[in-house]
Amino acid sequence: MPEGRIVKALSGFYYVDDGNRVYQCRARGLFKKKGAKVNPLVGDWVVYDPTSETEGYVMEVGERTSELVRPPISNVDQAVLVFSMVEPAFTSFLLDKFLVHTENAGIDSVIVLSKADKASESDVEAIVRKYEAIGYRVIPTSTKQERGIDSVREVLRDRISVFAGQSGVGKSSLINALFPGTSLQTGDISQKLGRGRHTTRHVELIPLEGGGYVADTPGFSSLEFIGIDELDLAEAFRDFAALSSECKFRGCLHVSEPSCAVQSALEEGKIDLERYEHYKQFREELKEYQRRN
Ligand code: GDP
Ligand code: ZN
Repeated sequence: MPEGRIVKALSGFYYVDDGNRVYQCRARGLFKKKGAKVNPLVGDWVVYDPTSETEGYVMEVGERTSELVRPPISNVDQAVLVFSMVEPAFTSFLLDKFLVHTENAGIDSVIVLSKADKASESDVEAIVRKYEAIGYRVIPTSTKQERGIDSVREVLRDRISVFAGQSGVGKSSLINALFPGTSLQTGDISQKLGRGRHTTRHVELIPLEGGGYVADTPGFSSLEFIGIDELDLAEAFRDFAALSSECKFRGCLHVSEPSCAVQSALEEGKIDLERYEHYKQFREELKEYQRRN
C-alpha cells in the first residue's frame, strides 16, 4: 500500500500528499499505540489505501520523531527562528527562551537574523559567533539586499519546518523573498504567518518546490513553560548539556552544586555569562509558573 504525508486535517478528513497528488482520506478504525488511541496528526507519515484517484483511507500511522502542540504538527524537523537585528531590536533573552522550547520539543533550530542591512556587520557577526559556538546554524538575511535568502532556502529543503518569531521581524517578507513569483500557496503562508497568535483554525503543511514542507502557521506562540521541569530546562541549554556528564552529580542543575562543570566553565569564561543569567531567570519563571498551576 502507498505511503504519504498528512498535510492537512479538516472536518474528519486527512489530506495525504504522495508527492504528486493529495488524497482526501478518512481514518479507518482506531490507531492504537501502547494502548492509547492515536489520532492522526498533520505531519504524520501514513500508509493509506486509495479507493479512487482522489480519495482513500488512512490505514497506519508511522512513528513520530516530534510532536508540537501549537500548532499541532508531528515530525517537524526544525524551527526557523526569525530574529531581527532592529525593529524590533535583537533580544538574546527571547532567543534563548525560544531555544528552550525547540530543544524541549526535540526539534532543531536555525536562527535567521533578519534586517541585517540595518545593523553593523560587527553586531551581526557577534551574534553569529555566539550562537554558532553553541551549535546552531545562524543565517544573517536581508530581504532589502537579498542576502542569505538562498541559504535559508537550502536549509528548508527536504525538511518539515515551522517559522517562529515576534511579529514585525520580517517573516512574511522573508517568505515572499524565498518563494517569489508567489504562487497562491506562498501568498497564503505569508498571510497566515503574519496573522500571529490568533490562528486557532486548522494548520496546513505547504509543499516546497525543492522538496520539504513549511507550516502555514508560526510555531511557539506560547512561551510558557508548560510541561517543562527543572531538569528539562537545564538540558535545553545545549552548551550546558554538553558539559553535564562532567558534573559530579547526575541531574546537576548547575546552580550551587559542588564540582559542577558548568559553573567551572562559567568561571573560566567558557560559557556565556548572559546565557547563564537567562537560565537563572527562566528558572525563576518556571518556579512562578509552577506556583500558579
Ligand atoms: P512579520 O510580522 O514577521 O511577518 O514581518 P513583515 O515581513 O511584515 O515585516 C515587518 C517590517 O519589516 C516591514 O515594514 C518590512 O518592510 C520590514 N522588513 C522586512 N525585512 C526587512 C529587511 O530585510 N530589511 C529591512 N530594512 N526591513 C525589512
Ligand atoms: Zn553542573
